[in-house]
Amino acid sequence: SQAVRADILDLLARGSADTRELLRLAGETAAEEGLSVYAVGGFVRDLLLLTPTRDLDLVVEGNGPRFAGVLAAKLGSGELTLHTRFGTANILFPDGRHVDIASMRREYYEYPGALPEVEKSTLRDDLFRRDFTVNAMAIALNPECFGELVDYYGGMRDLLQGEIRLLHNLSFIEDPTRILRALRFAGRYGFKPAKETAGALRTALDSGVLENVSRERFTEELLLVYREAEYRAIGRALVEYGVLSRWFAREYPWNFSGEDGDGSPLQRWLHTLSCLSGQEAEEVLQRLRLPRPFAAYTRTYFRLRGELAQVPPNLPDLDRILNRVPLWLVKLLAREESGEGAAGGGKVLAEYAEALEKMKLSVNGRVLLAAGLREGKTIGAVLARIRSAWLAGEIKSPRDEETLMRRLLAQTERKGQNLV
Ligand code: ATP
Repeated sequence: SQAVRADILDLLARGSADTRELLRLAGETAAEEGLSVYAVGGFVRDLLLLTPTRDLDLVVEGNGPRFAGVLAAKLGSGELTLHTRFGTANILFPDGRHVDIASMRREYYEYPGALPEVEKSTLRDDLFRRDFTVNAMAIALNPECFGELVDYYGGMRDLLQGEIRLLHNLSFIEDPTRILRALRFAGRYGFKPAKETAGALRTALDSGVLENVSRERFTEELLLVYREAEYRAIGRALVEYGVLSRWFAREYPWNFSGEDGDGSPLQRWLHTLSCLSGQEAEEVLQRLRLPRPFAAYTRTYFRLRGELAQVPPNLPDLDRILNRVPLWLVKLLAREESGEGAAGGGKVLAEYAEALEKMKLSVNGRVLLAAGLREGKTIGAVLARIRSAWLAGEIKSPRDEETLMRRLLAQTERKGQNLV
């Protein structure tokens, strides 16, 4: 309706000028080429939810790649990639924004001046192939109808109600990864699955649809969860609906609570595994196809936990195990170990992590060579002494460090390079 269109124009006017200009130019280009173009999917959803939008998805009635070529030429900046075989194209801007352009099917009207009804029905089909009503809306961009909302399936109603709703009941069977998508979007926006959608989700899980999903696809969808600020809420939903227990064929004590919300996806991932044993974590890894750093850090994390359980709780011994481990991982281990029910060692580990964080070690082998030290063993001993002084809090600044270094150098000189 006109009221909704006015709202959309208003939302666009408040948003980024670059995006507005891009949408306007896309509409103008389409009109010149005798085509229709629409913004679709996540862009429309996020615009209506007043949340910042990143990517822009356009669908063009007709030849998407050709349209993309004309648009890119007009834009001047932006790198164009064509996938002619799929009828899609992509423009990547220097600032990282990108536009994906897809073609609507056009079988019925390969002639000029196609009937609008035919065109509308193809947009309807395109939107019907999508996952949820809130993702199946479009905004017209051609100048004569710029800003009109196309909402065949009640996406706006569901946005207002806060519901994630399928377009048809076999949708989860058709593509079971939508199960994870549904819970991810629900968690992200604080929505819930609509009643029938929740029912369809359970039915699909009960019928074993996840067996049709490859490890790669499942892993991909699962990792997307860890990119979400609300990953804990999403994780809990994945547990409650039994998605994880079905995929892993047993219940694991996933840790979707605690304080690691600010971490990177990798840190969040390790945190959620923190209640598992090393053996259980290995089983989890076997069911996934994690990117190399994820798998490697998962194993390192559990190996270190094993080693930390054995080592006497004092700074030098901890440092022996942890001195090559990145600070973020030491801090993560310290948080896990010093949490509830931590033994005495947990406290020392927390102290160690704190000392590491304060450490501004600037002396290294090269500095000592330049200062006149020759012998490799002596250099190693001086460095170790400086490091342990940092850890013990004996030195607290680069100036303290410099003083200590001078003192140690003077000592080695006196003792003919035999540092005690
Ligand atoms: P995000 O904010 O996470 O990027 P998005 O909606 O842009 O959200 P994409 O995964 O980029 O998510 O998908 C773009 C659009 O493509 C969706 O809005 C949806 O309409 C459609 N889509 C994506 N995946 C599926 C799927 N598995 N089944 C049906 N439609 C899908």
